[in-house]
Formats: sequence, structure tokens, C-alpha cells
Amino acid sequence: MTQQTEIECCYCGLLQRRIGLLPGQSARCVGCTLVLYREKPGGIERALTLTVASLLLLAIANFSVFMTFEFAGRDQGNRIISGVGNLIELGYAPLGLLIFFASVLAPLLHLSGFGWVLWQTHRGRAPSYLGPLYRHLEILRPWAMLEVYLLGIFVAVIKLSQLANIDLGAGFWAYLGLIVTSTASYDAVDSREIWNRLPIKEERVPA
Ligand SMILES: [Zn+2]
Repeated sequence: MTQQTEIECCYCGLLQRRIGLLPGQSARCVGCTLVLYREKPGGIERALTLTVASLLLLAIANFSVFMTFEFAGRDQGNRIISGVGNLIELGYAPLGLLIFFASVLAPLLHLSGFGWVLWQTHRGRAPSYLGPLYRHLEILRPWAMLEVYLLGIFVAVIKLSQLANIDLGAGFWAYLGLIVTSTASYDAVDSREIWNRLPIKEERVPA
């Protein structure tokens, strides 16, 4: 396994020598005191566990009832997938496809790709495609930031609750849990630690 000997500060650009740290310690930039890197023991394994949990919650969020409307004595359960289908049927195909991409496809691709990178680095394997894969995941990540959509969901729930009785289903709670576990999984591991274990030098970019 190779280890970078120099590290560039993301904020002030100062190049400094990388030193070994004890678990829990952080190294700060001598120029601007920004935290350069932390020694988070078991970070990759913790991130891997949280990513697997996130994938399970993503499946529950999409296949369970998200919310039930009770209107004029009738109950109607709604799933994210059925909502996408309804939008397409009603002639809002671009909106339906955008919701499908942002709430189903992008998180699925990002979580499974991130999980695969973590699994390979955990096993001490670094096939040559892993660097480009991880770099492309960073591009996909803004689309997989589910917490952004949470505000939209709350606005919709408040508006709809004025028209009908709403019961939040298992899918909704799984979606909330997914936001917590996916955010925690990105935070559990320092991306420099992953880059340091990847094989292609020119693919290494600071977080
Ligand atoms: Zn600095």
C-alpha cells in the first residue's frame, strides 16, 4: 500500500509533509490551521456498514407506501415509484423522469458505487478502474444528496394536509433514516484515506 508523503492544504494551497497520527488525532495546516486530515480508525469499515444500511433503507423507501391520503372517505397509498408513473401518465414525463433520477437512480448508483469502492479498499484490493470510478462518484454525489429533497417533501406534506388526512408510511420513515445513514457514511471516512489506497497516482485529488 502506498502513502502520500506530501499534502496540499485545500484552503491556502500550502504544501506540507504528511506525518503519522495516533487514532483520533488531526493534523492542521501550519499556514491557516485548517484541519488537513484526521486519523479515523476503522473509518472505511464504518462507512461500508452505513452504506449497506443505506441501500436497504433506499429499497424500503421506494417499495413501501410513502404516504396514504384519506380523501372523501377513500384511502390511497402512494409509493415513490407509483408517483413517478402517475406523473408520466398525466403528461409530466420530464418531471417524472427527473424525480426518478434524483430520488431512485442517482442514490442507487452512488451508494452501490461508493459501497463497492469501500469494499475493495477494505479487502486491500485496488483494481485500476477503482480510481476513475471513485472520481465519477464525486460528480454524481450532488444528485444523490437526498436531504435537499426533504424540504420539498415537508412543504408538500403541509400543503396536502390542508386538503386531506395524511398518514406517513414506512417508506417515508425509511427515507428519513436513509438521509441520516448516507450522510453519516460520507462523514465516517476521510476521502483522502480512500485516495491514498487507490492505485493511479494521477487520479488522486484532494477532497
Ligand atoms: Zn492552509
